[in-house]
Amino acid sequence: MTDTSLRDDMHPGSSPPSGDGIGCHGGKEELRKAAEAAGKSETIARYAADYPVGPHDQPQSMCPAFGSLRVGLRMRRTATVLSGSACCVYGLTFTSHFYGARRSVGYVPFNSETLVTGKLFEDIRDAVFKLADPEKYDAVVVINLCVPTASGVPLQILPKEIAGVRVIGIDVPGFGVPTHAEAKDVLAAAMLNYARREAEQGPVQAPSTPRGDRPTITLLGEMFPADPVGIGMLLAPMGLAAGPAVPTREWRELYGAFDCAAVAAIHPFYKASIREFEAAGRAIVGSAPVGRDGTETWLEAIGGACGISRAMIDAAKNAALPEISAALAAAPINGRITLSGYEGSELLVGRLLVESGADLRYVGTACPRTPWSDADRAWLEAKGVRVQYRASLEHDIGAMEEFSPDLAIGTTPVVQKAKAKGIPALYFTNLISARPLFGGAGAGSLAQVVNAAIAGKARFDAMREFFDDVGEGDKAGIWQHTPVPRPEFRDKFRKATAAQTKKRKSEEMV
Ligand code: SF4
Repeated sequence: MTDTSLRDDMHPGSSPPSGDGIGCHGGKEELRKAAEAAGKSETIARYAADYPVGPHDQPQSMCPAFGSLRVGLRMRRTATVLSGSACCVYGLTFTSHFYGARRSVGYVPFNSETLVTGKLFEDIRDAVFKLADPEKYDAVVVINLCVPTASGVPLQILPKEIAGVRVIGIDVPGFGVPTHAEAKDVLAAAMLNYARREAEQGPVQAPSTPRGDRPTITLLGEMFPADPVGIGMLLAPMGLAAGPAVPTREWRELYGAFDCAAVAAIHPFYKASIREFEAAGRAIVGSAPVGRDGTETWLEAIGGACGISRAMIDAAKNAALPEISAALAAAPINGRITLSGYEGSELLVGRLLVESGADLRYVGTACPRTPWSDADRAWLEAKGVRVQYRASLEHDIGAMEEFSPDLAIGTTPVVQKAKAKGIPALYFTNLISARPLFGGAGAGSLAQVVNAAIAGKARFDAMREFFDDVGEGDKAGIWQHTPVPRPEFRDKFRKATAAQTKKRKSEEMV
């Protein structure tokens, strides 16, 4: 096995396996059919049901497997191993270190021969046995990327446990899991499933920090570190506490996640994880305590799901809502905004912007519609906001062009496009979703960054005027001399190509 933190490069000794390089940019159908023929039809069918596609089937963003890799790398005493083409592993390793993983990514390299003869599976098995040291690890996670999934590398027959170390093999192909957000769910659910079965068989490890007497609410979704604390304060008047956040940071927290009064699906795309909680008999509550309206509805729903008395629910509302209203009023946002992202929290951020006074016109999310974001969708639509699930880059840019906002919040290509047009823009992932969103701390937290960005409009206008059309169209790139436009050449090529196409068609008819 290769440790990519030491050697995150291509493997000179390996030649590309069949199917290499066609996962992202084409050949999806072929890979899907190959995976089904190679024994993965059940997995592919489950992913199709859990992560429905359409109108768009994949956002123009990073490799989906990054979501699973990130969940594995953030978990203590967990080794994460990738099985896939060297180029994919290179990109995934690069991205994970870019986002500060500070952990080794394991890699079992392969070539055409080891892939087709089944030797790759034996190599993975050997690597897992070498890694499974109970002194160091609670779990070893192996992730099949596109090509090994399409080739049917059977991670499901790896031993479930070696010397007390759990072994979890998952397929996370780009042709089956549409977004990196949903890939987080794939690994989180596989771990929850394992932990649930352990708990069903007998006593399990207690949490590392002793839990209090109060029943807890498990929080589903990665969130800003202060948010679980804030949610705990909202729950306290109802005699409840915030439980672990899933994906967890430690194996034993998985048991704590099941040991709850209810699960809050803060991020609404964790479909397979929710199935695990439902199998354990836990109630699921959608939406989140975001803004005044969202917090009120959420506290009612949590109270109802946990059988809390009317007086205690009202006490929780009385403790939280005036503070949230005051925070929102103290930090108003003025301006027209379009918003898009692929983290899954876009609708929640949209609610907060609207409650802060923003004229929000559009919310696009790469994630699919699920029952747990329905209340947010209905609320936003009632305020006149267009909500687009499985939004493509074209949807997001189309909305920006249609609404001419004072601020476009979005993914990197949306932000680039906006800035080129002189529209102030903010990255959703780095600048918006990395802030507290919930309860009193969340209310008003967006105003500073949003208002500062909107106020930068004059700077954008000055820059646009200064640069004019430099670097656009034919003038993009570095030139020794000012390029001379040659429209006649383009015209000539166009005519030649059209003539050639016509000739080929007439030959086909003969
Ligand atoms: S594993 Fe990711 S990067 Fe590699 S082909 Fe599949 S989707 Fe693309």
